[in-house]
Amino acid sequence: MSAKPTSKLSTQQTDSKQGPLLQVQDLQVEYITQRGRVKAVDGVSFEIGYHEVFGLAGESGCGKSTIAHAVTRILKPPAYITGGKVIFEDRDLLSLTPDELRSFRWEHLSIVFQSAMDSLNPVLTIGEQIVDVLQAHLIPDKAQARQRALKLLTWVGIDPKRIDNYPHQLSGGMRQRAVIALALALIPQMIILDEPTTALDVVVQKQIIQKIRQLQQELEFSVLFITHDLSLLVEFSDRIGIMYAGKLVEVAPAREIFTAPRHPYTRKLMTAFPTVLGPRRELSGIPGSPPNLISPPTGCRFHPRCDVMLGRVCQEDLPELIHINPDHQVACHLVEREMKS
Ligand code: SF4
Repeated sequence: MSAKPTSKLSTQQTDSKQGPLLQVQDLQVEYITQRGRVKAVDGVSFEIGYHEVFGLAGESGCGKSTIAHAVTRILKPPAYITGGKVIFEDRDLLSLTPDELRSFRWEHLSIVFQSAMDSLNPVLTIGEQIVDVLQAHLIPDKAQARQRALKLLTWVGIDPKRIDNYPHQLSGGMRQRAVIALALALIPQMIILDEPTTALDVVVQKQIIQKIRQLQQELEFSVLFITHDLSLLVEFSDRIGIMYAGKLVEVAPAREIFTAPRHPYTRKLMTAFPTVLGPRRELSGIPGSPPNLISPPTGCRFHPRCDVMLGRVCQEDLPELIHINPDHQVACHLVEREMKS
């Protein structure tokens, strides 16, 4: 890969690397529907460090994509942020004005969605779209911006000759690479990947994930990686948060989630996908389905599906997320009881 280009952003990245880059504190997001208020994200807190890849996993509807949309402030009604804070270095993202937000999103934080076609303009070539972003924020000169666009395409593994192609002229994998090039255009400090490869076949998926990891290590950006595929996340992330029914139930280094998951839900999730790191094992689903978040179960939200449920304490008391070691947090009465005994 060619050398990292200099920009006003690369200076920011090397100046300040102390403490977390992103802090999500007690975040609450609700969808206001005719049937009631859906608490899609209910008091979620986590941090992401500089150059760290943090993964969020959980079944569909657990709130992980809603967190991505809340952090980037692209939530639309009927979804509303009803509480909490999102701090990026020293900025409170929830209080940025629309203008501040527009430049912040490209320069410091960008997002890659599952469907590349939703992110790309079908009537502009991929080159024009990248050049537009560069000219608006960093390189006013069109010829120079095009040179940078060619370099960005090379970085993500697209033949630069394709710069004048329209999105429909590219394969699904190439379109997603083009979206990643767009997200990287200003070398932001953090990229959010929201199910970035779910629509692609497994070979292309693997190639793209490896490419993103390589770029992440060379350009030193942080990543919030969201997927329902826990085995993919274990391979790609430094730390992982497991979400269930709008709440974080376990947070730990990826290796620990793989070798020693503690929450009963995480254990079930681990057996629901084929592993890429360890020996073959039998796959099994998770019985039952996630709860209705208009009226979630009392106590531990996983208790109706939990095969090691303790009884009344699990049915009535919400377990707190507690540290079982300095890097590993779990919200489960059984784990808490085992810690005390
Ligand atoms: Fe199961 Fe109880 Fe732990 Fe919830 S708190 S996961 S119901 S053991």
